[in-house]
Amino acid sequence: VEALKGQDCYLLVAPTRGINVWCAATGGILTENSVVIAIKTTGIGQLVEHRTLVLPQLSAAGIDCDEIKRRTGWSCIFGPVYAKDIPAYIEAKFRKSPSMQLTEFALGQRLEQAISPTVLLSLISLPVILLIDRSLTGPVLLAVWLVSLFHYIFIFRIPGQFAYQKGLFVGILSMIIYFSCLGFRGDASWKGYIFGGLGLILLSLLISLEVPSVSPLWRCFRSRLKETGLRNHSINIHLEKCNGCRRCLSVCPKGCFEVLNESKKANLLDERVCLKCRACIRQCHPEALEFARAG
Ligand code: SF4
Ligand code: SF4
Repeated sequence: VEALKGQDCYLLVAPTRGINVWCAATGGILTENSVVIAIKTTGIGQLVEHRTLVLPQLSAAGIDCDEIKRRTGWSCIFGPVYAKDIPAYIEAKFRKSPSMQLTEFALGQRLEQAISPTVLLSLISLPVILLIDRSLTGPVLLAVWLVSLFHYIFIFRIPGQFAYQKGLFVGILSMIIYFSCLGFRGDASWKGYIFGGLGLILLSLLISLEVPSVSPLWRCFRSRLKETGLRNHSINIHLEKCNGCRRCLSVCPKGCFEVLNESKKANLLDERVCLKCRACIRQCHPEALEFARAG
């Protein structure tokens, strides 16, 4: 909202249940339905003469613009990833520079996402620790923060295909460290071992199931317990179907595509950086793109 100060425009708000745009779109919560409802219920059509919406680029994984056009008459274009670039984007006559369309799920952003669930878990843990063994308050709260931050920082590196496997891995690792610390102290009660150890595994499982909701690698809700992304998949381009429309270029947040001048066909530049967010596949109307299991 801050970025729009001084701009002659309206901000249309579509609900995402409090989830960020990228995950909500990838997880099927922010869809063309959300946008259609926002258009129809706000009366935006009476406030402006044009019929073009600028959508956040990261919503491309979940929104079918043709469906919005069919149901409302409004056209959609995908703007920059970050709202702070909107003024420059408008200034450039609605053209995105390459830097406006690239993003990364960087460490700072992951840590930012970690704060609220970790605070919540600390508050939930506190009365339980006080009931069981008040002398463990400090170590357990420290463990909550360490386990949580470990999950968010090493989200892409923790072994395991499924969320619960990652949770078990970190839980068992933290339990071993915790037991070693108790053994070193030498004065811990059996309650400290049993409740602390089981608590750490439970905590790690809870966090591992929560982390996917902040990562575009996993669709929120549906796949928390099942798949943890499509890392074993690669993108196939069916060149015979590609019409060179460049939509994949304009929505890919990692700059994976180019369109070759001679053939006017899409080409994958570097698939290793692909986040498997599905935006290109969703926006490729001739259905020239698909994920296929690698190997
Ligand atoms: S969106 Fe599909 S049809 Fe358009 S350039 Fe990309 S691959 Fe080709
Ligand atoms: S190439 Fe990968 S990162 Fe780029 S839009 Fe497609 S799925 Fe997302």
